[in-house]
Amino acid sequence: MREQGKLFVISGPSGAGKSTVVFKAMEGREDLCFSTSATTRKPRPGEQDGREYFFVDRERFVEMIAGDELLEHAVYVNNYYGTPRKYVEEQLAQGVNVLLDIEVQGARQVAEKCPDATKIFVIPPSLRELERRLVNRGTDTAEAIAARLERARQEYQEADFYDYIIVNDSLEQAAAELSAIILAQHCRAADRADYLRAL
Ligand code: ADP
Ligand code: 5GP
Repeated sequence: MREQGKLFVISGPSGAGKSTVVFKAMEGREDLCFSTSATTRKPRPGEQDGREYFFVDRERFVEMIAGDELLEHAVYVNNYYGTPRKYVEEQLAQGVNVLLDIEVQGARQVAEKCPDATKIFVIPPSLRELERRLVNRGTDTAEAIAARLERARQEYQEADFYDYIIVNDSLEQAAAELSAIILAQHCRAADRADYLRAL
C-alpha cells in the first residue's frame, strides 16, 4: 500500500545544527526530501541559489505572497523567509516525506494548515555551544550573531509547541533521532488502519 508522504517541521535556533542534522539524516535515503525556502537574505559565502535557498529580492517575495505561492512565510532578523507550496505538495503526493527547516512563526502557520505535520525542535547542548557554533561557522557578523542569540532565547520560550526535541550534541545521535521520529510517525495506528481493514 502506497502511503502519502508526511510533513516534518524542524525549528530551533540558528546555529543549532538543523540543516547539518537534516542533511545527515537524508544521506542515502530517497523517501526524504528537503524543501528549499525562498529568502530575501543575502547568500553567505559558499551558498548557492536553488540549493540552500532561492535568493530573491523583496519585490519578488511580496509577489509570491500575493500569488499564494507560499505555504507559510515570516520575517526573521529583518529578512523574509517562506516555503514554496508547489514542491511540498508534489513530493507529499508522491509518497516522499518533506522536511521544512523553518522558524517558529512559520511552524505555527504550517500547523494551522496541516495539523498532521510533526513538529521537531532542535537545540544545541547549551547556549554557549550555540554561540561557539555560530562563531565557528564564520558566516555571520558579530552583530548578526548577537541578534541570533537573542532570538534563540525567545524561541526557547516556545519549545513546548513542538512534539519532539532533539539535542544536537553528537551529530550521529541527532540524525539517528530524527530518522527514528520519522519512522515512528509512519507506524501510528491511524496510518495503519487500512492494513486492518484489508484482513
Ligand atoms: P542551523 O541550520 O541550525 O542554522 P547549521 O547546520 O548551519 O545550523 O550548523 C551551525 C554550525 O554548527 C555549522 O558550522 C555546523 O557544521 C556546526 N554543527 C552542526 N551540528 C554540530 C554538532 N553536532 N557538533 C558540532 N558542530 C555542529
Ligand atoms: P538562516 O538565515 O540562518 O539560514 O535562517 C534563519 C532562520 O530562518 C532559521 O531559523 C530557519 O529555520 C528559518 N527559515 C529558513 N527558511 C524558512 C522558511 O521558509 N520559512 C520560515 N518561516 N523560516 C525559515
